[in-house]
Amino acid sequence: MSLPEDARPATILSQAGGAVDEATGGIVPALQPSTTFLRDPDNLHRKGFDYGRDANPVVRQVETVVAALEGGRAALAFSSGMVAMTAVFRSLPPGAHVLAPTVIYRGLREWLRDAAGCGLSAVDLVDLDDLDQVRAALRPGVTKLLWAETPANPTWVVADLSALAALAREAGALLVVDNTVPTPLLTRPLALGADLVVHSATKYLNGHSDLLAGLVVAAAETELWQRLRTLRHDEGAILGAFEAWLLLRGLRTLEVRLQRQCGSAMHLAAALDRHPRIERVLYPGLPTHKGHTLAARQMSGGFGGMLSILVRGGAEAAIATAAAVRVWKRATSLGGVESLIEHRASIEGPDSPAPPGLLRLSVGLEDPRDLLADLEWALDRAG
Ligand code: PLP
Repeated sequence: MSLPEDARPATILSQAGGAVDEATGGIVPALQPSTTFLRDPDNLHRKGFDYGRDANPVVRQVETVVAALEGGRAALAFSSGMVAMTAVFRSLPPGAHVLAPTVIYRGLREWLRDAAGCGLSAVDLVDLDDLDQVRAALRPGVTKLLWAETPANPTWVVADLSALAALAREAGALLVVDNTVPTPLLTRPLALGADLVVHSATKYLNGHSDLLAGLVVAAAETELWQRLRTLRHDEGAILGAFEAWLLLRGLRTLEVRLQRQCGSAMHLAAALDRHPRIERVLYPGLPTHKGHTLAARQMSGGFGGMLSILVRGGAEAAIATAAAVRVWKRATSLGGVESLIEHRASIEGPDSPAPPGLLRLSVGLEDPRDLLADLEWALDRAG
């Protein structure tokens, strides 16, 4: 990175890590789509690039920026969040025992259902906000990985990362944290003792709902890290050059986007909490949320742009509310500039932790007054 070592996150982000196009002086790094790179006459690759399945200049810049934000030693970019996350499990020694949270991104929960198919001996699910349960489920010397997500989809359960890191370390397991929702601007798991951080960069890091990307960031370049690198190389799971270039552009505005999203989410949570057609608002920023005190300690700069509302009248009323909105978009995903609303139980299936009346809200950059008015209008229509 060409910026000073102590450059702050907003500076790193707005200048994409200080990258410029060395060949022309362009202040935007060039998109380099080449899949192969010239060898020097003595057959070496002194510029550091050989073949597109290993590395690409723009991909490497994305990795540099995200590693700096997370305070990590190294990062690897993948073609989606799921590919990055499943690669972590597949880099464990064969037959590993792992612990995963009961409240977790649905796609990963489904993938982990077939432990043997994932090369694991068993996957046990635990409530991450119950440390005694986690302690009891960890098998010292046998459990190789403890997975965490905080605040976790779709009820925004908050997990104590320092405490989990200590428990994992005692048992000889790695702590891996899906940091997609808070981003490193609000939570830095590696500083709290995690070994790896993973991201769906499809969400906040890019922020424009126009590409798929994933990242893994490591506190240290261990043997497992080398296996992960080899796996990405062998399977060609690296992020595409064009997606990396777009992601680098998206990252430039992350800090201002997230500030706005946190502010709007807090505003909506407080207003909707008083609405007669809403049973409960789930948002870590509300003092009534179970994980509020912990979130206030662990997160800095805001409580995130995601919240859920429990509509009185269950699934029918919730679906009718989502059907009536005019500003919010009925779609899955999160972290983009446009606000999304989703009836989570319908898409998560029978083992979802989402209550029937839950609508998940991803707050975008619209005027929060329009977002609130639209929801109030929809709640009235649905009632
Ligand atoms: N982790 C979280 C928290 C997510 O919300 C998602 C996607 O919704 C993923 C991981 C998977 O990422 P991707 O869709 O980029 O594969």
